[in-house]
Amino acid sequence: MISFEEALSIITSDVLVKDTERVDFRESLHRVLAEDVHSDVDMPPFDKAAMDGYACRGEDLGGEMEVLEVIAAGDVPIRKIKSGTCTKIMTGAMIPEGADTVIMVEQTRRTGEGKVVFTGDKTRPNIAKKGEDVRTGDLVWRKGMPIQPQHIAILSAVGHTTPLVAKQPRVGVLSTGDELVEPALFPEEGKIRNSNGFQLAAQVSNAHCIPNYMGIVPDDETATEKAIRKALEENDVVILSGGVSAGDFDFVPKIMRKNGVEILFQKVAVKPGRPTVFGRTKDTYVFGLPGNPVSSFINFEVFVKPLLMAMMGAGHKPLELTLQMGAGFQRKKADRLEFIPVNIDTEGKVTPVSYHGSAHIHAICLADGLMRIPKGVHELKKGAVTYVRPV
Ligand code: AMP
Ligand code: MG
Repeated sequence: MISFEEALSIITSDVLVKDTERVDFRESLHRVLAEDVHSDVDMPPFDKAAMDGYACRGEDLGGEMEVLEVIAAGDVPIRKIKSGTCTKIMTGAMIPEGADTVIMVEQTRRTGEGKVVFTGDKTRPNIAKKGEDVRTGDLVWRKGMPIQPQHIAILSAVGHTTPLVAKQPRVGVLSTGDELVEPALFPEEGKIRNSNGFQLAAQVSNAHCIPNYMGIVPDDETATEKAIRKALEENDVVILSGGVSAGDFDFVPKIMRKNGVEILFQKVAVKPGRPTVFGRTKDTYVFGLPGNPVSSFINFEVFVKPLLMAMMGAGHKPLELTLQMGAGFQRKKADRLEFIPVNIDTEGKVTPVSYHGSAHIHAICLADGLMRIPKGVHELKKGAVTYVRPV
């Protein structure tokens, strides 16, 4: 049995990184950037007014000023500011030559036709200087980073309309088990609905990869062999759930081998997920996850997701919060690293979700995160430091 850290390092070393493609930036949300992006402009591109008001010389604020013209955003000023003059200016408009200050319209009073005075005590310059945010040539977003809505703004601003991104892995999901029926059916005696097949497909979507739900596979060697063969042909990654533990019909690892999958590990000191199987062929990765939905959910997050991210060239460091226990936690055995579903209250205090074990899917519906309890730790007292990754 290998450690959790060893398993993760096997999964994420020598990863087959997907090819890249150019996409329209409007379709690039959540894709992983495969190139550095630099700015082709200064931001702001000129000294610009940060307020609606009057552009003038700071030294003239004591007296009456003559208004030379009105400059809207997008206009180019014509008149130069000289002593005793100003121009009315709108937020975002170019500062006229000679001006060093924009006084807010709220701090002015008209004193006659085309004349204003400053009524405040003092003012800031209220000018955004050319290039103060970004200079031409600056790196604005990096290779290996996902594109979020705010990055769509920066791609727009620098005119980078066809970013190079990683192609998305296609991930086949197979649910093994004679007891499973599709969710739209009412389960007959002895049967249950297939819940983790669709959970896994949704987790694949959440990781911004392409899910390929491939149905329920009966606990039959020939059927499993056929299903795995087809899945290996059609996908970059295959996730099977169920059939990996010690039951009479748990032959997933054996059939993987029969299909030419090199098994890289088959037991990990982690809870849940001890029987997790991981292997690969020349060009496809295969996971066999335990069938219980809580286990399959957690094991996807901690094992499968890092691989999917690495295949897209993304450095996946799951956000782990250092928080405090809001209640005590104890466990009898501490021979494995454990992840358990928890709630985080508004003060950041962590309480384990009460659940009956890894079949209790309803319990994790209410969880805010997964708490990591290191190997060897038997007890966490109320107030103790703990580590939680949000889900
Ligand atoms: P297994 O890993 O095949 O031994 O299954 C462990 C437990 O998880 C059993 O109680 C199964 O009925 C249950 N299980 C397996 N696959 C699924 C699934 N796709 N959806 C819901 N429960 C499942
Ligand atoms: Mg089974």
